[in-house]
Amino acid sequence: MRKIIIAGNWKMNNTISQAQDLIAGLTKNGGDMHKVEVIVAPPFTALRSVYDILGQSSVHVAAQNLFWEESGAYTGEVSAMMIKEAGCKWVIIGHSERRQLFGETDETVNKRARAALASGLKPIVCIGETLEEREGGRTYDVLHRQLDGGLNGLSAENMAKVTIAYEPVWAIGTGKTATSAQAQEAHEKIRAKLSSMFGQGVADKVRILYGGSMKPSNALELLSQPDVDGGLIGGASLNAHDFVEIIKAGIEAEKL
Ligand code: PEP
Repeated sequence: MRKIIIAGNWKMNNTISQAQDLIAGLTKNGGDMHKVEVIVAPPFTALRSVYDILGQSSVHVAAQNLFWEESGAYTGEVSAMMIKEAGCKWVIIGHSERRQLFGETDETVNKRARAALASGLKPIVCIGETLEEREGGRTYDVLHRQLDGGLNGLSAENMAKVTIAYEPVWAIGTGKTATSAQAQEAHEKIRAKLSSMFGQGVADKVRILYGGSMKPSNALELLSQPDVDGGLIGGASLNAHDFVEIIKAGIEAEKL
């Protein structure tokens, strides 16, 4: 059985002191958190401090991005080794905001995923269609292209360490959520594509997270779908109470 992941993407929110408060709220109320895999992705500046306060807790830390070179004249960039040393075990790659606002392409997603894997970090590779692409009937062409490009050349062994986040762009930060049926259909198709690329054994192991306005009121329904193995949560992860409620939904879904 695939263990459910509940991952919070804080985006460009929370200074170090705000991050400390949020983590305090989480660990105080998060009781059975170890029953699912909980990940938080603070901005770079707060990574180490969040890692230090989490201490022995089961919650893991992710970065929101990395650059694929090891070191050198790349002003403003951060390497895999740097985020590892700051306490990260995970890294989010190819978020739609990076694709839309910062020129990320399937090719750069691929370079980042390879660099993450080479350094022992676990990548969460984000894919998803825009509203225009969905309404134009191109959802699966887009998802397949993103999977072919972003995962190009990975070995089956490495692919088993990758997590995919399906995040329909029209649902991110908009309050619009994919219905559980839409999410399940997309996840099933993504798994079928992974099977054609890496074999059924790998496709069965890879966890596919849903992202896009997941909140306490819709989390259990989404997480109960057979191919939805967790959530990547933006807005609701900035509120300790809401994030804990989503973790609880994950724990419930884990029992199904
Ligand atoms: C995200 O950005 O990964 C995300 C899912 O955001 P939100 O939950 O705010 O839609």
